[in-house]
Amino acid sequence: MSDTVVPTAASTPASTRSPLDDAREQLAQAVEVLGLRPHVHALLAEPRRELSVSIPLRRDDGTVEVLRGYRVQHNYSRGPGKGGVRFDARVDLDEVRALAMWMTWKCALLDVPYGGAKGGVRVDPRAYSRAELERITRRYTSEISPLIGPNQDIPAPDVGTDEQTMAWMMDTYSVGMGYTVLGVVTGKPIDAGGSLGRASSTSRGVAAVALRALGHVGIAPEGATAAVQGFGKVGRGAARFLAEAGLAVVAVSDVDGAVHAPEGLDIAALEAHVDATGTVVGFPGSAPIDGEQLLALEVDLLVPAAIEGVIHADNAAAVRAKVIVEGANGPVSSAADGILSKQGVLVVPDILANAGGVVVSYFEWVQANQSYWWSEEEVDDRLVGRMNKAWDDVVAYADSKHLSLRLAATCMAVERVYRAHELRGLYP
Ligand code: GLU
Repeated sequence: MSDTVVPTAASTPASTRSPLDDAREQLAQAVEVLGLRPHVHALLAEPRRELSVSIPLRRDDGTVEVLRGYRVQHNYSRGPGKGGVRFDARVDLDEVRALAMWMTWKCALLDVPYGGAKGGVRVDPRAYSRAELERITRRYTSEISPLIGPNQDIPAPDVGTDEQTMAWMMDTYSVGMGYTVLGVVTGKPIDAGGSLGRASSTSRGVAAVALRALGHVGIAPEGATAAVQGFGKVGRGAARFLAEAGLAVVAVSDVDGAVHAPEGLDIAALEAHVDATGTVVGFPGSAPIDGEQLLALEVDLLVPAAIEGVIHADNAAAVRAKVIVEGANGPVSSAADGILSKQGVLVVPDILANAGGVVVSYFEWVQANQSYWWSEEEVDDRLVGRMNKAWDDVVAYADSKHLSLRLAATCMAVERVYRAHELRGLYP
């Protein structure tokens, strides 16, 4: 793999680089590999539309606080904008811009007929009551309502938001319209127009791709070891599916800490422990370790499934996993990509690995638009079929052009978006 081209992080020093720097650098690499003219980078490096909104919140104690929220539509040349809404204290406009760009590539790569978008509210949801979160969600939805809609831009859950958030968003938008609009968001509860199989879809896709990646480097699932960083919407299900496939999941973490059991954690029992206590910490039969130790464990598979930038220039050299599958968006920085490639670690990029969520979001939107609902088996089969095809296509492209999987996936996606631009032409 020594002649493999990986994205480089040349222009900004590693310590000051943001996810947006990395996203733009990946785009620049793809434009260069594809031999496209420089204006294509200029066209795609900037979001088409972005909205910054003030969210005044009446707290339960009667005081008022003002939060900031964003919705960014990176591109909608292939269809409506699509992407999650994040509630997190670290949210800022540049982060949302990067995440929106990655959504454009993810949707194009999986060939779902959407562009890319993302939203976020700068808030720590753990510090607010359920009633306060409902008011934040409804005011945010109302403020961004000129931009969203089933044919314009379709939000979904992301870090810090869930099915309930989507039910409130759908209701707020629908009240404004005067009728129920199921297709305005995806990731809704089943009883409010959601799709069977959506809740587990990102995790199912991550596990399916992880099994393909392990097979690619000659590792059978039975007896293989895995570590999963993050035990939320993505990591928890991924750990369960990987354990079901025969892997020993030896370590998992959440925001409170990490647990390690060299023979493998009992994931069903761990899930029950998390449901009862709210954290993986203190799981009987496991040893406490810290989050950085988890990333450096000698395992076959490492699944970072929390947030961006956790594997970076300063800790990448310590990684001893053979395969990294990005459950989160952007968990491996561009600088880390280069280091890991030299170490011979296979990195499966986010826009491929975690695309199962948006694939089933697409299925949910199709079902909502047709008012005709599929069985869970149908959803899961179609999801795994699409993930396997995307894996095969990316590996074939990477092999034929001697590219890393990330650069291959980005090139394929950029090419599709560029083709739509070319066919539509420049207006006026
Ligand atoms: N937030 C998820 C992601 O980053 C899902 C997006 C969606 O379904 O629109 O892919």
